[in-house]
Amino acid sequence: MKLLITGGSGLVGSAFNINATKWSSKDVNLINFDKTLQAMINLMPEYVIHTAGKIGGLLGNMNHKGQFFYENITINTNVLEAARVAKVEKVLSFLSTCIFPDNIKYPLTEDQIHNGEPHNSNYPYAYAKRMLDVQSRAYREQYGCNYVCVIPTNIYGPNDNFNLESGHVLPSLIHKCYLAKQNNEDFVIWGSGKPLREFIYSKDIAQLSLWALENYDEDEPIIFSTSEEISIGDVAQIIAKHMNFKGNIVFDKSKPDGQFRKPSSNKKLMKYIPKYKFTTLEDGIQETIEWFCENYPNVRK
Ligand code: GDP
Repeated sequence: MKLLITGGSGLVGSAFNINATKWSSKDVNLINFDKTLQAMINLMPEYVIHTAGKIGGLLGNMNHKGQFFYENITINTNVLEAARVAKVEKVLSFLSTCIFPDNIKYPLTEDQIHNGEPHNSNYPYAYAKRMLDVQSRAYREQYGCNYVCVIPTNIYGPNDNFNLESGHVLPSLIHKCYLAKQNNEDFVIWGSGKPLREFIYSKDIAQLSLWALENYDEDEPIIFSTSEEISIGDVAQIIAKHMNFKGNIVFDKSKPDGQFRKPSSNKKLMKYIPKYKFTTLEDGIQETIEWFCENYPNVRK
């Protein structure tokens, strides 16, 4: 199997422990169509797992709306079109549960992604990502391309972006707790700590993606989720425990909470693989913290 993984050095791309060509932004500039097409034709992969994108947490999304729209919609359009021209057999692309409409019937299900406006904090990213689903379906209908999309909940793990401002909540909090412990300071959580999220470990995402590459051919996306919600405050507690942090955990209510919750349904996934065992959040956080501490200060931050 000749496999290409875009976003190869990122959180998801780096979790694939298999023989594949991995492109990072240093290898190929996916914002440039000619360069993308040339690289795709030189490689001629049979399969593409497309994880590349401009990604950020709540503030990253809110502060870079134009850039997030342009880069994501351009990268996605270029990768899928280049794959079509290079006759790639199958493309598996990554969406995200944060692209769902804000006012929606919970739990999130695959059939609802286009049924309304996304949350205002990330609508440019959300619309750009939704177009991956549109393009994949349109290519399937017109050209017979076997292009599928997967929708993970909040992914975390080694090689994440641990930036204190622009990172997603879990890596940012790991970094904050690490610094708070080192400097004998409070561990500061944005917002009330009450919002609920569903987290999934990057190694599980890699396993599920390889399963989907072999077994999932529906035109509708599939949600990758544990369907287990946890509050941000409880996540902070788990991090503090595994970091052995004994100081105060405080909540900075001047910072936004974002969406309160977005529970997702993993019914479809469980219908296909009912016996799949997800990594527990405790184990995943512990492994991620170990990786972070071993690799600090050279982590992405
Ligand atoms: P989202 O799931 O798309 O909203 O993105 P995030 O991964 O950034 O999660 C945001 C949630 O975590 C919000 O409820 C934030 O208020 C909360 N949060 C608490 N502390 C932090 C932090 O240090 N960084 C981020 N990104 N979010 C935080």
